[in-house]
Amino acid sequence: MLLLRSFAELGAGISLGPNSLEALELLGLGDTFKEIANMSEENPLWFRVLDGRTGTHVTDVSAVSRSSRQTRINPYLSNKLHIKGRHAFVHRARLLERITEHLPPNVHIYFSCNVVKVETIHAPVGYQRTSFVHVTFQRPSADGTPRSQVFEASAAIACDGIRSNVRECLKPYCGGRVRYTGTYLYRGLLDMHDAIKAIGERARISTQRMGLDRQISALPIDGGKTLSVSAYVSDRSLDPDQRIWDAPRWVIPGSTQQMLAAFNDFGEDAKSLLKLVKKADQWALHELVPPKIWTAERVTLLGDAAHAGQPFNGAGVGQAFEDAYVLTELMAHPACNASTIPRFLQAYEDVRRERARLQQAHSRVSGEIYQYRGPMGDDTVAIAAEFQDRFDWIWHVDLRADVAEALQKLKSAGVVA
Ligand SMILES: Cc1cc2nc3c(=O)[nH]c(=O)nc-3n(C[C@H](O)[C@H](O)[C@H](O)COP(=O)(O)OP(=O)(O)OC[C@H]3O[C@@H](n4cnc5c(N)ncnc54)[C@H](O)[C@@H]3O)c2cc1C
Repeated sequence: MLLLRSFAELGAGISLGPNSLEALELLGLGDTFKEIANMSEENPLWFRVLDGRTGTHVTDVSAVSRSSRQTRINPYLSNKLHIKGRHAFVHRARLLERITEHLPPNVHIYFSCNVVKVETIHAPVGYQRTSFVHVTFQRPSADGTPRSQVFEASAAIACDGIRSNVRECLKPYCGGRVRYTGTYLYRGLLDMHDAIKAIGERARISTQRMGLDRQISALPIDGGKTLSVSAYVSDRSLDPDQRIWDAPRWVIPGSTQQMLAAFNDFGEDAKSLLKLVKKADQWALHELVPPKIWTAERVTLLGDAAHAGQPFNGAGVGQAFEDAYVLTELMAHPACNASTIPRFLQAYEDVRRERARLQQAHSRVSGEIYQYRGPMGDDTVAIAAEFQDRFDWIWHVDLRADVAEALQKLKSAGVVA
């Protein structure tokens, strides 16, 4: 068994929009984040969209929404990170490392631990305490055999990703089903010097290259030292529920030859970048059919465990940060205690679920548009028009209003004064 002592490579870089930066700022992580991210302060260009086959410029997408371009600033937003359409690219592992610096000293991180069970324990009638949660971990002992350990808590918040074990523990009430999207991808982290040697200075610009059932996304991360490349290959010939990934693992070995063959009709720029990808494994892209509920008494889901979608809006991490902000604010309320906490968890779910569900559905269609399977087919003029404001509703959100709405509902229910 591989024992982790720190955050692993975790694949690649991620792109974060204004809503993600807003949530980070509200969580008090804004300054830390600025130290590690490729942040655009003034330049509103977030990413360039090209036709992958011809290299023709389709459009430049800005994170400044049409509405905030008109009004300059959305008045309710915290404003520090948000204005000027800021957006960022960051290395996942660096982000996690830096976030953990903010944890209080009595919070421990256990690596290589597997949560195998979460259950709510009801105190016997007449017993002077509320119900509570048992979280069962398996940890490897010195000789490598797994050892179980049970933690007791007032609540459990599961951020254990798309294959959440905790979500399984909430079944049958919870529902939610993981399915293959019909898309797999090749990923690589390229040295920026090599990328510039291959295609020139334009390697520094984050770019989406579109093609029929294929797409190459290239994002500069690590302060511009690394180019994170993802090359997507899709088969949408079957209905979404019938697409099968026919391998026990989600990552299987592939070859550079296979990868280059899949992008054979793409332009020289695209192929030159792909030739630099050292390990051309195939990563199967899965998504979560939305669960019926996220919360069961003292247990709730957060992030991909609740709403893993396809990555084409570049918004999954932002959704998790939004969840985290809303939940943190609610749990910090003076009326939230061991006995009322289930009501606060439910209020968090009620205010977050619809936006997360919409983001999942919207991201699936974004992937279809990039891969010429959307309503505008390969009409790049129509695609350019669509991208002018397609992501605005995700990027420009009033998270404090969500918290206020949740608190208002708790007030109406008599939970908070
Ligand atoms: C190819 C690709 C590109 C993407 N690009 C972007 C992007 O540019 N921008 C963006 O915002 N989003 C992007 N996303 C989406 C983003 O990766 C996810 O939405 C995000 O990582 C969700 O965070 P999470 O913490 O909920 O889950 P995860 O990142 O999956 O983290 C879950 C954690 O839980 C741990 N875990 C799992 N099971 C257990 C267990 N039983 N016990 C203990 N620990 C457990 C895992 O080891 C992991 O550390 C992309 C996704 C993919 C697949």
